Amino acid sequence: MARILVVEDEPAIAELVTLNLRHSGHEVQVAANSQAAQSAIDGALPDLVVLDWMLPGESGIALAQRWRRDARTRDLPIVMLTARSDERDVVQGLDSGADDYLTKPFSTTELLARIRSILRRKAPQALDAAVQVGTLKLDPATMRVAAGDVMVKLGPTEFRLLRFLMHHPERVHSRAQLLDRVWGDHVFIEERTVDVHVMRLREALTVGDCAGMVETVRGAGYRLARPVAAGA
Ligand code: CA
Repeated sequence: MARILVVEDEPAIAELVTLNLRHSGHEVQVAANSQAAQSAIDGALPDLVVLDWMLPGESGIALAQRWRRDARTRDLPIVMLTARSDERDVVQGLDSGADDYLTKPFSTTELLARIRSILRRKAPQALDAAVQVGTLKLDPATMRVAAGDVMVKLGPTEFRLLRFLMHHPERVHSRAQLLDRVWGDHVFIEERTVDVHVMRLREALTVGDCAGMVETVRGAGYRLARPVAAGA
């Protein structure tokens, strides 16, 4: 399940896309212009944006370019929708920072396939794929976590936190980034909340001897470290 922002000013297309995405299990928010899109993004980062090129006022291209310049939104996956099929326009769309584009009219099956492929590449935690780091295995389909043969019991927030960390191992995530990506809210939740859930996660992981994998990086945030192989 991914959180997807659909930026589209034509109600019929917005509804078609929204219905199909919801049917596939995604959580959808719709914005009809660039101001609404920007305020949605300011509130919570989605996993992906479906962005119409031609919007009233500021265009989808200008919006994509702005997001690419901002550190917080630089890696935001974007699928551009365009009514233009001119090859030069498509090049401009991709240059502006879109990960992919579809020309209207498009098939919703194709849109869903493109979205899946971009998520797999850029936001794998939003898909239901199982993930393994060291002896630690997490399966979103069954909501189970195991450390080797030992089952690990986690609350829902710790589960989402571990899932995000496991999909991005070795990288340091600031508390603000974790609030954005795991909680979906970086404005109204205090950063100390992250510390509380990291502590609970470590406690839960002690049964499988994996607590040490969740590292605190002083002054920067948290990281899930791959365990060093014995004898290495
Ligand atoms: Ca439009």
